[in-house]
Parts: sequence; C-alpha cells; structure tokens
Amino acid sequence: MRVLLVEDDEPIAESLTRGLSRYGFEVRWVRTGAEALAAPETTEEEAAIVLVDLGLPDMDGLDVCRELRTRGDVPIIVISARSDEVDRVVGLEIGADDYVTKPFGVREVVARMRAVLRRAQPNQPAQEHGRLRVDRRGRRVHLDGAELVLTPKEFDLLAFLAEEPGAVFTREQIMEAVWDENWFGPTKTLDVHVGVLRRKLGDAASLETVRGVGFRLVLA
Ligand code: CA
Repeated sequence: MRVLLVEDDEPIAESLTRGLSRYGFEVRWVRTGAEALAAPETTEEEAAIVLVDLGLPDMDGLDVCRELRTRGDVPIIVISARSDEVDRVVGLEIGADDYVTKPFGVREVVARMRAVLRRAQPNQPAQEHGRLRVDRRGRRVHLDGAELVLTPKEFDLLAFLAEEPGAVFTREQIMEAVWDENWFGPTKTLDVHVGVLRRKLGDAASLETVRGVGFRLVLA
C-alpha cells in the first residue's frame, strides 16, 4: 500500500517513514503542499492514502485537503500539532477522513489508516490468492471453496503475509503487525503459528522460511 506523506518536519517524517515501512507501507515523502498536489499518488490511477501536516511551509494543509477532495476520493488523514487545529479540521469539514495529533505513535497512525481504508472500501471483495480466498472484512479464508478454520492470530498472520505474496517479511515486522508493537523477546509463538498454518494450508501455499530474515507466502 502506498502512502503519500506531506510533512516538513524532518524528524517526524523520518520516524513515520521508518515506522510505516515496517508495517509494509511504501512511503513517499514530500515537504510542501505544491509537491503533494503534483504527486502521482494523489491521482486516480495511483491513488494512495495521504497523510497531511497542517503547518506546511508553502500553504495551509487544509487547503491541500480541500484541493485533493475536489479531485477525488483519495483517503486523507490530517497530522495536527495542536488540538485547536483539530477543532478547525472538524469544524471546517474539509473532507479529511480522520486526524491524529502530535505526538503520536506509529501504531496509532497505522490503526487510523486501516480504519480509514476499510471505510473507504466498504464493499471491497475478498481477494483471491491462487487457491486461497482471503476475506479481510469477514475475517474468513477459503481454500478451494471450503472454509479454513483459523484462530484470530492465525488469520491475522496469513492475511498479513497475503498482503504481498512472494515478499519476505521479517520476524520483527510480523511480530509488530500481528502481535504487538512493543513486543520484545523470543519469537517462538510465531514459529508455532507458522507450523499450524503450514499444516492447514497443505499444498495450496507454502510459508517459506528465509533463514536469518523471516517468512514469505508462496502461492501454489
Ligand atoms: Ca509542519
């Protein structure tokens, strides 16, 4: 999933970029409103989710939101430094889908982004991955048409890896996304869940171990 980050504060932008990449987002960072409005990510063809800081060097972030809204339905989350700015966002109803106030944690931003994306695509069909069908809204997986019985964590793990079949996700990325951001310690539980999922998936897909790195989902 692509993210356009519009933020002139370098430390915030860098930590957000790093954090969001860990969750598998592909971040493009621009510093000004003008760059944001010229970015391909804000067009229909390359629609992404847009995170906009309100205090930009060249224009008001609210005007960026307003302009994007006249062009289409790209999901927008406002990044705000002060609560009175939030009042403005809400009061002006400029079309942002949600907002976060500084300081914020990456996990909070990701939660808001996922919520906004779910609302933006209320009728998103289940995704077909080879013989697998992953329905994130209904939290169900079908294999050759028959429902796989999965625990919530098994579902989260499979759905996370299925976001990009073939891509390697590190143990750290998986633990953060599926278990807890502030997780430290052994990843034994991950291995246990991988083992169970392998058994349940049979030959429809394999969860390959990439030694010293993590895992990837390979479709049959
Ligand atoms: Ca700023």
